[in-house]
This record gives sequence, C-alpha cells and structure tokens, in this order.
Amino acid sequence: MKDIYDVIVIGSGLGGLTAANRLARCGYSVLLAEQHSQLGGLATYFRRKHHVFDVALHGFPIGMKKSFRKYWGTEFSDRIVQVQKIRFDNPQFQVETTFDADDFTRLLEEQFEVPRERIDAFFHTVRTMNYYDDQSERTRALFERFFPGRLDVWRLLMEPITYANGSTLDEPAISYGIVFGNFMSKGVYTFQGGTDLLLDMMANTLRSNGVDCETSARVEKVMTQDRKVVGAVVNGKEIAARAVVSNGNLLGTIHELAGDDCFGEEFLKGLQDVRLSNSSCQVYLGIKPGETIDDIGDLLFTSTHPVFDSSAICSRNISSRTYSVYYPWMRPEQGQYTIVASMNGCYEDWGDLSREDYRAGKKQMIEETLDALDRYVPGIRGKVDYTEAATPKTFARYTLHDNGASFGTKFDGLRYSMELSEQVAGLYHTGSVGIIMSGWLGSVNYGVMTANEADKYLNA
Ligand SMILES: Cc1cc2nc3c(=O)[nH]c(=O)nc-3n(C[C@H](O)[C@H](O)[C@H](O)COP(=O)(O)OP(=O)(O)OC[C@H]3O[C@@H](n4cnc5c(N)ncnc54)[C@H](O)[C@@H]3O)c2cc1C
Repeated sequence: MKDIYDVIVIGSGLGGLTAANRLARCGYSVLLAEQHSQLGGLATYFRRKHHVFDVALHGFPIGMKKSFRKYWGTEFSDRIVQVQKIRFDNPQFQVETTFDADDFTRLLEEQFEVPRERIDAFFHTVRTMNYYDDQSERTRALFERFFPGRLDVWRLLMEPITYANGSTLDEPAISYGIVFGNFMSKGVYTFQGGTDLLLDMMANTLRSNGVDCETSARVEKVMTQDRKVVGAVVNGKEIAARAVVSNGNLLGTIHELAGDDCFGEEFLKGLQDVRLSNSSCQVYLGIKPGETIDDIGDLLFTSTHPVFDSSAICSRNISSRTYSVYYPWMRPEQGQYTIVASMNGCYEDWGDLSREDYRAGKKQMIEETLDALDRYVPGIRGKVDYTEAATPKTFARYTLHDNGASFGTKFDGLRYSMELSEQVAGLYHTGSVGIIMSGWLGSVNYGVMTANEADKYLNA
C-alpha cells in the first residue's frame, strides 16, 4: 500500500470490485482494501479436498450480461449462460420452468388456470415499476389485487425471491416487482467456470488497470476533517485519500467506520428505522469423483410447508431448501458434481450457541439435508465424500456484515446509502441495500453508479 491514493475502496464484494475497476479506468489511483484473505465478499467460493464450492452463484438476471460486457469486458459476458431447468416441489404444486415471462405465463394459464388478461396485466405492472414510484403498496396487496385468494400463485411468484433474500409479503411491492421483473425478462443465468474463475479474472483486470488490491487489509476507520474525507486507517496505517467508497455494511460504515459525529441528527434518527436483511444457512455436498447424478434440475426449490410462509422459510426448524446442482459443465476441466443446499437463517438462532451446540446444530443441519435430498437423489449418502455447513455466523465472520446479513439492509437503507456523501463529502457507499441494489446484478450496477458519483466529486 502506498501512503496516498485518490480513492480507497473498502471491501471487495461485487460492488466494491466494480467501483474500483471503474474508478481506475477513469484514471484515479485506487486502493482496494479487503479484510478477508480472498476477494469477492459474499460472491465467494472455497476449496475442500478436490471440490470447489460456490457460495452465492445460484442465478442472476440476464441484465448481468450487459453489465459485465460494459464494465468488465466481453470475456466476462461471454461466460454467462442460462440456467435451463428450475423446479419447484411443495405440497401445493410441482413445476418445472425456465423462469421467464413466457414460461410463467404458460404455467399460470395452463396449470394454475389464471385468466390470460390477468397474467398479462400483472406482468405489465411489475415490468413498469421503478424506484421513483409510489412505495406505499405492499407485495401482499399487489398479489391480492391480481390473484385474490390464490395462495398457490402467491407461492410460485414469491417463494424464489424470499428464498434469496428473506423478503416478506409486507415489504414494498416495488422491491419485489423490480427484482421479479428483472428475472422475468429472460430467465435465470449463471457464470460458467464458477466464482473462482470469475474472481481470478476480476483480480487480473483490476491489476492491469492499476488498482492496488490488498487482501487481509481491514479498514478500521474512515478519517474525516470537517465532515470531509481525508483518508482511512488500514491495518493500523493512515492512508490519505480524497474519497472513500465503502462496500461494507451500510450501518457499519456509518456507525463504526466514519462515526456518528460525522452525521446530522436527522440522518441518524432516520437510520434507526433501517433494518438489516436476514441471513442464510448452507450445506455443501461434494460428490465423489467418478460418481454421477441424474439431471434433477439446476435449481430446485423444495418445501414441505403447507403454504408460503416467510417466517417458516427463515425458521431454524427447516422445512424449505433450495438445491443448486453444479454439473460437470460448470467446470468442465474438473468434471465433478457439487450440490449446495441454501436456506434462510436468522443470526439469533445461531449467534449465542455454545461451541458444542453450534457444532451439533451444524451436524444436524447436514444430516437433515442429506435425508431430504435423498428424495431427489436416491442414495445420496453413498455418493458424497465431503460435507460442510455455513450459518449466519459464518457469513458474519467472513464479510463483517452484522448478523451475517446476506443482503445488507432492507430496502429502507437505500436512501441513506445514496445520501452518504451529502453528510460527509467524499464518502460513498456501494453495497447491499435492499434487494434492488444487491444480488449480483444490483451490486455490480450499484458499484458503477457509486463510482460515477465519486468521479464527479473527485473531478470537481
Ligand atoms: C448464501 C447466499 C446466496 C446468494 N445467492 C445469490 C444468487 O444466487 N444470486 C444473486 O444475485 N445474489 C445472491 N446472493 C447475494 C449476493 O451474493 C450479494 O448481494 C452480493 O454479492 C453482495 O455484494 P456487495 O457488493 O454488496 O458486497 P458484499 O458481498 O457484502 O461484500 C462486502 C465486502 O466488504 C468487506 N469488508 C467489510 N468491512 C470491511 C472493512 N472494514 N475493511 C475491509 N473490508 C471490509 C467484506 O469482507 C466483504 O468482502 C447470495 C448471498 C448469499 C449469502
């Protein structure tokens, strides 16, 4: 690390990586400081034995192709491929879909017997939603408006979004509509080669654009003078900078890194109502080399709960699991299968357990997942040679998100994230705030938006 940069980017989630890359391409000297030993934030992977496990590469909307092409290059966008087979299995229905508007229209019309005009009207409404619209309508009211009493339809439309980020029917309809509308344009996509390849490619691009990428580099403080950024303390060292872009959690950035005394009373008061998103649990299953798995779909949303219920989805008493199956085409040179089961999770269920109870809880989660998966992959126990589990504590440890929040703050954080530089000149935030500015696509796009704001400031 040098002693002085134009801008310091705190954290290397997809938002931080993209902001750093864009600012470097604008000609600024950039330090990217990541506290973990590896880049990526939540968009990460890990190796165990001969396996590579992807943590957050399950699916993103087609918009990612354009964003990667524009902000990272065609070698990135060319690797984006469609996830072909998405399945739902729950007490209300069994469905197989490509998760795009045409196929959903077909399903809703043929299998759920919803009149066509109603489906079209729903899609039209969702597609035309945008951030500046009236935010008072809740998702529950939106569903009630178009599909009154049809809890099976609500489940089909809502469950994948809740699995992803824990959102409920009582949150703003636009936060649901914008994300669902993104997916409904052309389905669900993934990055062939896996998260490890993606992050290697990103690190190479950043270095070739002159970014100093430092891992195991924790930012302890954002230094300010008269509510203006003057640098940051990284691993105890003071580094001067004209601007700081934080990719860390919004609340941590304000309260811990900058400090409350940098912010106006009203801003801090409003911030009290900003809620963290909930967290995740995962079970990682490595399949023995040479073993095969039949095609059970790429993404399998399963639940034994009778109806859609966002609190049941988050409960430690797990009734809903999403399996992502990584077939050999994902990493052809390795030719192996891995399966990742994702569940929503709450930090309170895991945070205060004793060491023994925590270990036992993880073991139980793995065993129950193997039992549940046996229904789709008979004899799964005989095929697996590695298992591991992650909990909200794991996510908190590796990303410093309070409570292991998988999507930063809820939607109400967006305003405060965007207004940061009005409080402290030169301080910006890019990172998960609500569902729109998070997820792979939202994070990359928000990284670009924030970099553009920082560019304007630095330029001025
Ligand atoms: C289990 C799981 C599955 C997911 N699946 C999907 C999916 O299929 N599709 C999808 O679109 N999205 C998915 N997501 C969400 C998606 O991965 C995230 O929204 C996105 O990666 C967040 O990017 P970000 O830019 O907000 O940064 P984050 O990933 O939150 O990274 C922030 C980074 O900042 C670093 N940091 C924090 N504080 C400091 C500090 N003081 N000093 C230095 N570094 C610091 C952290 O270590 C971290 O690397 C999933 C998330 C989880 C948890």
